Amino acid sequence: MLEGKVAVITGGTRGIGYEIVRVFCENKAKVILFGSKEETVEKAITQLKEDGFSVTGYSPNLQNPEEIQSVIDQIIDEYSTIDILVNNAGISANKKIEDTSAEEFIQIMEINVNAMFHLSKAVIPHMKNKKKGVILNTSSMVSIYGQPSGVGYPTSKFAVNGMTKSLARELAPFQIRVNAVAPGVTKTDMVASLPQEIMEPIIQSIPLKRMAEPKEIANAFLFLASDLASYITGVVLSVDGAAMN
Ligand code: NAD
Repeated sequence: MLEGKVAVITGGTRGIGYEIVRVFCENKAKVILFGSKEETVEKAITQLKEDGFSVTGYSPNLQNPEEIQSVIDQIIDEYSTIDILVNNAGISANKKIEDTSAEEFIQIMEINVNAMFHLSKAVIPHMKNKKKGVILNTSSMVSIYGQPSGVGYPTSKFAVNGMTKSLARELAPFQIRVNAVAPGVTKTDMVASLPQEIMEPIIQSIPLKRMAEPKEIANAFLFLASDLASYITGVVLSVDGAAMN
């Protein structure tokens, strides 16, 4: 479904991002994954190589626009294009507002929102020149009604939806599609740390009565990245077992 396409995927070392990398590779994309550390990028590349996939990777500081621009330029030099950008890297929060420092709140915005801005800004001139491109953002089911603690996280994901819908409108004249996927509770490290007594009632409240597998989320990214979604832009696609529908 993605034969010949070059895709950059942030937060590609584990969890949902790692499955997006795998599923894009299975569908013949050339994938460049980003992670927060050189070691984790290398580990993910080694695992993927063992499974027969050839990918490369970088670990730019997502809070540094110049570093991001320089890595994006390097990739365009090497591959001569970036067809798909997946802004997936993210961090979450679960503390009450009184226990959340200003620095913690700002850090969530930095990784979940500002990095998405820097990365999109770095690839958009190239996509505009080519008059085509796909940008996909990872939102969350909490971008619909919020959540009862960790206010920075849903705040950041509402911003992701705003950026997705606005850029979809701004970039449509250049045939650049911009969409988001809003996963429900998904089996990754992000939820693994939560105790069973917190998780069980959440799972029971989901109509499908289970968490999503990362691959089930990755498949939505595959669809939106592919030409099957050629008339879809500005959408936030919920993949949440009807948790928020
Ligand atoms: P995860 O913690 O397993 O993976 C997070 C990824 O983001 C990692 O690859 C990590 O390297 C990257 N990352 C984190 N901080 C970074 C930083 N400072 N610089 C660069 N990269 C950084 O989490 P996940 O569950 O796979 O989450 C992926 C995305 O899905 C996030 O945007 C998250 O908000 C979203 N999401 C997850 C769930 C869930 O239940 N797991 C639900 C809804 C949305």
